[in-house]
Amino acid sequence: MEEKQYNLGDIVEMKKQHPCGVNEWKIIRLGADIRIKCEGCQHSVMIPRREFEKKMKKILVQVKPQPNEQN
Ligand SMILES: [Zn+2]
Repeated sequence: MEEKQYNLGDIVEMKKQHPCGVNEWKIIRLGADIRIKCEGCQHSVMIPRREFEKKMKKILVQVKPQPNEQN
């Protein structure tokens, strides 16, 4: 499986869209738990990282990679 590389500020699509009808979530906090905010209604939810990775479908918009994080 391809590894998902996500960063703070990225816009991601989840497997389930938000009840408001929008499926674009911005990552606003990265830690053991991840907080994402619905781009449609600004509702935010906090979910454990493992669960986030299971529920995230794809990254829609990636923030620019940090220059000091090149592989
Ligand atoms: Zn929403």
